[in-house]
Amino acid sequence: MKIKDILNEKTPTISFEIFPPNARMSLNQVMAAAATMAVQKPDFMSVTYGAAGGTKENTVKIASSLQDYLGIPSIAHLTCVATEKERVKEIALEMKAAGIENVLALRGDIQDGIPYPAPDKYAHAAELVAEIRQLGDFCIGGACYPEGHPEAGSREQDILYLKEKVDAGCDFLTTQMFFDNDLFRDYMYCIREKGINVPVLAGIMPVTNAAQLRRIYSLSQAHMPKKFERLVEKFGDKPEAMMQAGIAYAVDQIIDLIASGVSGIHIYTMNKPQVAAKIMENLRDVIK
Ligand code: FAD
Repeated sequence: MKIKDILNEKTPTISFEIFPPNARMSLNQVMAAAATMAVQKPDFMSVTYGAAGGTKENTVKIASSLQDYLGIPSIAHLTCVATEKERVKEIALEMKAAGIENVLALRGDIQDGIPYPAPDKYAHAAELVAEIRQLGDFCIGGACYPEGHPEAGSREQDILYLKEKVDAGCDFLTTQMFFDNDLFRDYMYCIREKGINVPVLAGIMPVTNAAQLRRIYSLSQAHMPKKFERLVEKFGDKPEAMMQAGIAYAVDQIIDLIASGVSGIHIYTMNKPQVAAKIMENLRDVIK
């Protein structure tokens, strides 16, 4: 099922992101985690794609298994920073052949040692979006950044480029994680003012350990509100307390976003079914 149709029928949607196998998790473990999460009946699940392209096979396999065996609509991420245009097109067609109707079209982070930009690669995600639009009947998502993308000169400039990406054919957007809902609300105002009218799903990362937080900060430089900093300072070295406090913070953020009328909540689950389950338990009556 296409995500744009799900969004037409229901808001807010609740969706989960999972990542493919890595050094710490085998394919069987990822599939087992996905199956446990599927019990929560999210509206859809997304499967990430390594920027260097190495996860292709597993991204496609997991996204199609979610639909075929677990009955959960899925979206496969696709990056183009490390792969030539012709190959990216082939991969999108492979996704289509595997029954995947939804693609999150991304550039991917620039990789050390991999030439970029390059004449045989898409320069920005907007070009990939336009290409996928030509390839057939996909529902296409794009990424957006409430605090501005780290490479952008300014958030204003980033929003102008975002408008080009949406005009190239995005059906919806999903945000980078953020911890301050006021920033998100301000961003929504700014993008709507620039004529970006597609649904925007808020990306929420439940932070359940201090190491995860350090990694997030190095990747996204997300603004940490004082309330959040205090929580990490107090509970960062107490795993069980941090887990409980991190989930409570995410739930609080989600309820406030739903009260503000958000189109959807996309939970970065980090492949942890127990975190997804706890959040859903806390939202049960809110999303009825
Ligand atoms: P773009 O939209 O191309 O933007 C990248 C930068 O280029 C921005 O600074 C933008 O302002 C600028 N720009 C855009 N157009 C132009 C133009 N015409 N001229 C000059 N500058 C321009 N990464 C992965 O590797 N795998 C994943 O699965 C993955 N999933 C993600 C999911 C979400 C929801 C999000 C928010 C991010 C995800 N990422 C993933 C990270 C993403 O790939 C990086 O943030 C990457 O650096 C930017 O990708 P993009 O698609 O937003 O790029």
